[in-house]
Amino acid sequence: MSLSASIAKADTKNLDSNHNWRQVLRKAWRKPEELLDYLQLDSSLLKGIAPGQQQFPLLAPSAFIEQIEKGNPEDPLFLQIFPQAAEARQQSGLLQDPVGDIKSQASPGLLHKYHSRALVITTGACAIHCRYCFRRHFPYTSVTGGRSDWQQSLDYIRANPNISEIILSGGDPLMLATAQLEKISRSLLEFPQLKTLRIHTRIASCLPERINTRLVHWLRELPWAVVFVHHINHPQEIGSAAELAFTRLQSCTQMQLNQSVLLQGVNNKAEVLIQLSEKLFGNSVTPYYLHQMDQVQGAGHFNCSDIEARQLMRQLRAAVPGYLVPRLVREVTGEPGKTPV
Ligand SMILES: *Cc1c(COP(=O)(O)O)cnc(C)c1O
Ligand code: SF4
Repeated sequence: MSLSASIAKADTKNLDSNHNWRQVLRKAWRKPEELLDYLQLDSSLLKGIAPGQQQFPLLAPSAFIEQIEKGNPEDPLFLQIFPQAAEARQQSGLLQDPVGDIKSQASPGLLHKYHSRALVITTGACAIHCRYCFRRHFPYTSVTGGRSDWQQSLDYIRANPNISEIILSGGDPLMLATAQLEKISRSLLEFPQLKTLRIHTRIASCLPERINTRLVHWLRELPWAVVFVHHINHPQEIGSAAELAFTRLQSCTQMQLNQSVLLQGVNNKAEVLIQLSEKLFGNSVTPYYLHQMDQVQGAGHFNCSDIEARQLMRQLRAAVPGYLVPRLVREVTGEPGKTPV
């Protein structure tokens, strides 16, 4: 969509209402059988999904579902969110906390793994449940904490002046009410060392209604550089509502980046990665990371080998300019940053 068309659409009441996103989320798809029916897919797909569904239940709001091609059980968006029988398979080498997150908590809900930046687990909630998610086993309730915990995190940041960037992550930080986000940012104002506030979110493609006027206003008033890191795995996820969200964020961010997870059957094709880079670029979003999936129990069927991943990267580099090539990385416990593959 052109910029002017996006802006014209920005005025539609639907996306401008500040509380609407909660209603949209309440109406998200949660029942596998109803979703199959809506997508005109065979109910045989329900077979064997109970363990996965029980552990990490289906959740997908309509903006994401509307981008799915009806009648196609191999649709790359459908595969990301629909529970599968393969999730129950126990595989060796797959862990419950593959990246050592539980161990690296500096204070409850604060991860300080990399020198200059600290990551805050603001909430365990997400607007969508991605089947490959490494946090599907993360014991959120024991780490997310409440207000007293947050004070400990502030103490930690005070004691570590090398931290110049705070990353709001989760779950999805934009599941918090804007008032809560405001509270967090206000409490960070005391730190002169902070230069950047970063937000890691999957909301643009699954709940674009969240990027409303009030959120934009909050972002615009922040004294730091604001960086958004979106999470989009396939170009088909970017519909007109997501494009509108990117457009709105342009006015209140320093930079918009995207990270993807390399997923077997979803985006392990050169054409798909090329299209994704180009579509992101068309929306002023720069490809940042392509993650080799964390080895997480229940998601082994999404794995791609390093050999395949490198081959895809070669094809991508040949097809798009260097600034549209994401870095292929994986997270290795104990490393000082993401590790290039
Ligand atoms: C990925 C990650 C970051 C951010 O790393 P960048 O390379 O700066 O994007 C920071 N902290 C933690 C704990 C992370 O997992
Ligand atoms: S939105 Fe992010 S944290 Fe939430 S389930 Fe998906 S990948 Fe995991």
